[in-house]
Amino acid sequence: MKIIVTGGAGFIGSHTVVELIERGHTPIIIDDYRNSKPFILSRIEEITNTTVKSYNIDCCSFDKLDKVFKEEQPDGIIHFAAYKAVGESVNQPLKYYNNNLNSLTNILSLMQKHKVDNIVFSSSCTVYGTAEKIPVTEKTPRKPAESPYGNTKQVGEDILTDFFNSEHDKNISILRYFNPIGAHPSGLIGELPIGTPNNLVPYITQTAAGIRKELTVFGDDYTTKDGTCIRDYIHVVDLATAHIYAIEKIAKQSKQLDIYNVGVGIGTTVLEVVQTFEEVNNQKLNYIIGNRRAGDVVEIYSDNTKIVEELNWKPKYSLKDALRDAWNWQKKMQND
Ligand code: UDP
Repeated sequence: MKIIVTGGAGFIGSHTVVELIERGHTPIIIDDYRNSKPFILSRIEEITNTTVKSYNIDCCSFDKLDKVFKEEQPDGIIHFAAYKAVGESVNQPLKYYNNNLNSLTNILSLMQKHKVDNIVFSSSCTVYGTAEKIPVTEKTPRKPAESPYGNTKQVGEDILTDFFNSEHDKNISILRYFNPIGAHPSGLIGELPIGTPNNLVPYITQTAAGIRKELTVFGDDYTTKDGTCIRDYIHVVDLATAHIYAIEKIAKQSKQLDIYNVGVGIGTTVLEVVQTFEEVNNQKLNYIIGNRRAGDVVEIYSDNTKIVEELNWKPKYSLKDALRDAWNWQKKMQND
């Protein structure tokens, strides 16, 4: 299939482009590199030995996007391009609503106009907020969003559902990501945080590399086994693969709306991540215990039964693999 991948040079996007090629599909990248780097394209080509077509376009530019749809006539879209920093979204909500929602409505309008039937959308486990029962299934009720970023994911899901109900033949797959970490095992592509990382694993790798003085563990007085928060960390290549299975499934259908949790189904504490990183990479990590971070959910991990059963998807990589690959990527980046 020919698949447009918006945000295809980004962290999850670039790994998904690689997996699409490995499964015989033809990805077309749309990215304007505001949160990614163009050199990732040549890295994708190096990994896959394939030339990849790309457009430097903002998904909020309807006319430019229209031209790409007209020229490419894709079979489907995987839509990653969006802002994702929770804290920034609190300070600049309009930036988030403008970008994340306009790009989505543009894409849906163009799916109507050019008769493209299939879309996979990046959602997040943030839609569950503080869930009453862990692990969360897709039926766990959504909680009111705690940030404008989280709200763009909830509203995005709602827009897609309304769009689905109003159309005769559109297929939609909403993937609710847990915590993507790691990097491609080749060490050629990975996460490229801009400025100080907000997320745990890039902060750890930058600390181990000496770029940051120390990691602050945000709180060790939660009601968990070691007092630190629990998350479901998933290797980015496993997450990427879920997109391929999701679009391959809906492309065979007519009028289908799927929602899947994409996580490994294992809850891991912050200190367990730190210890595992130290162990697999034989690296001591400087860390201190700090205050709780505002807005952090104590514990969330997925029940992934639905995606395992319906898509026959299974995570192949462990937490150890992911932390080894993340460190390998960090070291390679420094040496380049
Ligand atoms: N965390 C931390 N120190 C950091 C960054 C994150 O202790 O510098 C913790 C954070 O409190 C949470 C977990 O690591 O419990 C994962 O945070 P991240 O920002 O990576 O993902 P989130 O689950 O918040 O989206």
